[in-house]
Amino acid sequence: MGLSGLDIYKLLPKTNCKECGFPTCLAFAMKLAQKGAELSACPYVTEEAKTALAAASAPPIRLVTVGKGERKIEVGNEVVLFRHDKTFYHQPGLVIRVKDNDPHLGDVAAQASSYVVERVGMKLTLDGIAIENASGDAATFAKAVETAKANSTLPLVLMSSDATAMEAALKVAAADKPLIYAATPGNWSAFTELAKSYACPLAIRDSGDLSALATLAENVTKAGVADVMLDPGTRGLAESLATSVQLRRLALKKNFRLLGFPIIAFAGEGASSEEEEAIVAAQHIAKYAGIVVLDHFSPHVIYPLMTLRQNIYTDPQKPIQVSPGLYQVGEPKENSPLLITTNFSLTYFTVSGEVEGSGVPAWLLVADAEGMSVLTAWAAGKFDAEKIAKTVKTSGIDEKIAHKKLVIPGYVATLSGETEEELPGWQIMVGPREAVDITPYLKNVWKP
Ligand code: SF4
Repeated sequence: MGLSGLDIYKLLPKTNCKECGFPTCLAFAMKLAQKGAELSACPYVTEEAKTALAAASAPPIRLVTVGKGERKIEVGNEVVLFRHDKTFYHQPGLVIRVKDNDPHLGDVAAQASSYVVERVGMKLTLDGIAIENASGDAATFAKAVETAKANSTLPLVLMSSDATAMEAALKVAAADKPLIYAATPGNWSAFTELAKSYACPLAIRDSGDLSALATLAENVTKAGVADVMLDPGTRGLAESLATSVQLRRLALKKNFRLLGFPIIAFAGEGASSEEEEAIVAAQHIAKYAGIVVLDHFSPHVIYPLMTLRQNIYTDPQKPIQVSPGLYQVGEPKENSPLLITTNFSLTYFTVSGEVEGSGVPAWLLVADAEGMSVLTAWAAGKFDAEKIAKTVKTSGIDEKIAHKKLVIPGYVATLSGETEEELPGWQIMVGPREAVDITPYLKNVWKP
């Protein structure tokens, strides 16, 4: 929530001197509100106005970075309550928790670090390792952090309530900007000093009382820590949903700065099983965690969570698309089948995956349907006979194949006659409706 043009105007000199390049101070203010100008363009803004404008134009939820380099986690800076209002930008980091006395810590760190799955052309990965000082011993904690670092390139969350143990771990890992977890009403002073001296972000935790959490936030920020994450202390489905929504609403609707920080959530705490942990984690991904800590690392749980996260953190107005054009699946020859589909990523990857799985090399034409799936594009007039014919004619496919047969998706069977009219000399074949039926179709029905 930025300032309105009128709010900004009240802080400007109001002399209309035009030196900023705008005819009036009001015009300049309006442009500033739309983020179309820089405040520095006006040489006459007072220091007080600069401070007020900078504070007021800060994002309602601070952007906090954990870790550094390519795999850093950046969370916060969201501006809407609902994804359909705009977009959620900074997807929550999924972090695996390991105890510092777990003999498998190195293996878990290595597996989490290298875990990657590809979906609709994007690589989905985990984001961090949380090391818990379960031993209560500073040296064991520091050693565990060393082991995690040796086995993983992921950002770290250091979990201890003991300042001595935390400092021992920070001596090992501070250069990697781990998240310090957590300052509490009992230890905040020492933890604030650690966050400042080691220049690391700091999580703060209270036990479900948001006013106490705000007081804690006030204490650490006044003491000089700017990068804060919040653990409101609530666990389980109902309570944590209520708290997360309240925190987001306070930040966005009330502009309540003290709680305008990203949330760290612990999905496994209070969950009675791995399945329940996954459900709680899914809720936190949807509303509104910045980091979700998981106690289990099971690919069958992680993959759906990453898929959910990918679905939520994409722009609802811009479907994920692939470039239109001619694609080869396997090494197609002149007598290989030619299929056409649309450029919605999920459609493309589903179809190309099934063609690949069939073991029949094929040519796959992808029509520009503005990123819509076959039926949606057809209903919107973006995937019709004319579009199909144009895609074929401009693809150069007739120089690569010895036949003139085109397989269209079964869902648009109704287009076959019209497409034959648009493509004289071509035979339009109606393929299966569902991608899953592509293999039997290519093996049993297709003939060059
Ligand atoms: Fe107003 Fe400053 Fe622009 Fe002059 S330079 S018109 S004072 S905003």
